[in-house]
Amino acid sequence: MIQIYIPLNFLGVIYREIRQNLTDLDKMFTLMDREQEVADAPGAQPLTDLHTPTVRFEDVHFAYDPARPVLQGVSFTIPAGKTVAVVGPSGAGKSTLSRLLYRFYDLQGGRITIAGQDIRTVTQDSLRRAIGIVPQDTVLFNDTVAYNIAYGRTGASQAEVEQAARAAHIHAFIAAQPQGYDTMVGERGLKLSGGEKQRVAIARTLLKNPPILIFDEATSALDSANERAIQAELASAAQNKTTLVIAHRLSTVVDAHEILVIEAGRIVERGTHAQLLAHGGHYARMWALQKNDGQNGL
Ligand code: ADP
Ligand code: MG
Repeated sequence: MIQIYIPLNFLGVIYREIRQNLTDLDKMFTLMDREQEVADAPGAQPLTDLHTPTVRFEDVHFAYDPARPVLQGVSFTIPAGKTVAVVGPSGAGKSTLSRLLYRFYDLQGGRITIAGQDIRTVTQDSLRRAIGIVPQDTVLFNDTVAYNIAYGRTGASQAEVEQAARAAHIHAFIAAQPQGYDTMVGERGLKLSGGEKQRVAIARTLLKNPPILIFDEATSALDSANERAIQAELASAAQNKTTLVIAHRLSTVVDAHEILVIEAGRIVERGTHAQLLAHGGHYARMWALQKNDGQNGL
């Protein structure tokens, strides 16, 4: 038993790492022949009514480790086609929100609904097709750039892949490689910088064009010129999509329908940019700090 237990446990660690980066789950599970922690409920049906759905977190409680609660009663609604932004210090639980919406883990309390359907009751496949994520740290497959971009929408044409790559400002870089879109990337191929990987993930999500978008510090690895250009693309992609933006630069949240300030797993402030500035609390202080750093583009 010990002999089996140790390697499985070890794989579990890797699996957790990778799962956090929201990569190719099915491939991972096949590879490891390991059961998913989160499974389809018996008789699970595909998500329906996905044309600009409303997303709702209702009194969500969650902990990775039962001894240390991470989210402690988080409730908010992203109305159909609107953007809700989440800000707060590192470790507050922001990325956890995106992992829970994608149902990498099940909740310990409360529920998350999409178009009124509890995500625990629908098929994971339909859930994951409905959501596009640009994660904080992108892990690419050991495959071609074209595969990595088209992964979001199998069957996309080369022209569509290129269009997405142009919008994500990565086309010129790819075109300059001797093998262009057939260049192998990942551990065994061309090593991309954090910013390049992030742009591949953005291209993938733009191509996938799902009704729900999650941007988790989606441009944090980009230089400011690229960041500004790509922010404009992301804002345009988010038009009429139900969008959760986890922001590291406050300039990207100014127009959000609602901004949530999260600290230690609780929403400590919420409102529009103007309301939060007028309130003069955490958000107003963060805004003033970033303004002094010249980081919010003002
Ligand atoms: P944020 O995105 O706001 O920086 P996260 O949602 O990533 O924060 O993490 C919230 C808390 O949960 C942190 O304390 C983090 O250390 C912890 N955490 C994140 N992932 C795991 C995990 N897989 N196992 C245990 N703890 C985790
Ligand atoms: Mg995070």
